[in-house]
Amino acid sequence: MEIICPIDEQFAPQISALLQSPPSQIAQEYFDNLLATRNCHGIRVKVDGHIGKGVYADAEFKAGELVLKDQMLVGSQHTENKMDCYVCASCFRFIGSIELQIGRKLYFDRLGVPSGNHCHSDSSNGEDDSCVVENNHGECSTSGSQNKIPLSQEFIESLVDGQFSLPYSEKFPLPVPTPCCGWCGEEYYCSQHCAKIDWETSHSLLCMGEKSKLSRRKALSKFVEHANDTNDIFILAAKVIAMTVLRYKNLKEAHLKEVGLESNNATVDLSLLLESWKPVSMGYKKRWWDCIALPEDVDEIDEVAFRLEIKQLAFESLQLLKVAIYDEECAPLFSLDIYGHIIGMFELNNLDLVVASPIEDYFIYVDDLPESQKKEAEALTRPILDALGDGYSICCQGTAFYPIQSCMNHSCCPNAKAFKREEDKDGRATVVALCPIQVGDEVTISYIDEDLPYEERQKLLADYGFRCKCAKCIEEANN
Ligand SMILES: [Zn+2]
Ligand SMILES: [Zn+2]
Ligand SMILES: [Zn+2]
Repeated sequence: MEIICPIDEQFAPQISALLQSPPSQIAQEYFDNLLATRNCHGIRVKVDGHIGKGVYADAEFKAGELVLKDQMLVGSQHTENKMDCYVCASCFRFIGSIELQIGRKLYFDRLGVPSGNHCHSDSSNGEDDSCVVENNHGECSTSGSQNKIPLSQEFIESLVDGQFSLPYSEKFPLPVPTPCCGWCGEEYYCSQHCAKIDWETSHSLLCMGEKSKLSRRKALSKFVEHANDTNDIFILAAKVIAMTVLRYKNLKEAHLKEVGLESNNATVDLSLLLESWKPVSMGYKKRWWDCIALPEDVDEIDEVAFRLEIKQLAFESLQLLKVAIYDEECAPLFSLDIYGHIIGMFELNNLDLVVASPIEDYFIYVDDLPESQKKEAEALTRPILDALGDGYSICCQGTAFYPIQSCMNHSCCPNAKAFKREEDKDGRATVVALCPIQVGDEVTISYIDEDLPYEERQKLLADYGFRCKCAKCIEEANN
């Protein structure tokens, strides 16, 4: 079976231009500018034509100190996680109220909608190191169906519609949800600002609300359904394409204004397309079906068939997306090769989006109250905890691409790690120092569980396409 994609043949030179690594100097300028917008001092990205990229300290960092706070280029919440966490679709901050968060979750639980802990993400590249949220249990709790004592439908509704207030919930205020301006009723935001950013960045092409044409809405709904049934990574890939198409349109409009011309031709302007694609071009990537790690349950003899199946899946998804948002001027973006590379970028960079739930903080607050107040509050909160079960404070989980964090190289004895502190309440990635870092040191994080034995580490790292030669590995290899 062979998968034929006419766009891949027709636009082969343009596609290969898009997939070329940007020249070192261009990449260096890009990262210098990006860091300047991050408000992060003391680090720089060094681009080297031979060994790739790395992040280096320009200042000293103490153990525990924040090294980087990185804004995502693009990200999305896992579909199943949407039942558990009601968050801003742009910055991933929790929205609504403690009552609404709890009420929604109980409502979906009652409907029997499967939800739960999807910390694993769909990538199989071993440990998800960025999935670290420190709470009382040390990690994101899981949604257990065991030992739940249900509450009445009426009570759940009173939580959702704001009729019932939980004691002390006013200590944990959350932003009022702002609906999408395209009236899709799917996406909500923490502010008008976030709604506007998301609309302008990608959502205006992907919105299924009344503002979009009926034909597009229908096509998008088929695309989303396929992604939800197979792999929600396709939704993220669609965001990357939508974002690039919109950047292209904006750049072209500005360019035409400059030269005083009207737009009437629909041919691909490669230089504008390359410029719109630039943020994505900076990410390390390979074709998804070539780089995806072979799952444990797939025999090595079936590897070829497995990879072809993955490619076929991507092809199906892309055809559905094309019906919805195809743009002639950006035709090369709709090739299977580009689609595969976008998904491969998420696979290889494996940067999970995690935001801790305020529900955890709320129940801890109640638990810490003076005895008499606690007793009174618990009369109301205890039945809710019992109804929520073990999964009472599942964190927001998704996949995102963080441009600067993704430049950090791996070490099995890292000097930094992805870690969300108490005050980190949105989807930005945070990296903190694990030990003192000196000026000139490379900042490294571990992509895997660095406590595993040498051979197991190398096996997991092979999925990222390299053999580790860090100090720990060199020492252990010689023993
Ligand atoms: Zn927001
Ligand atoms: Zn919308
Ligand atoms: Zn190592």
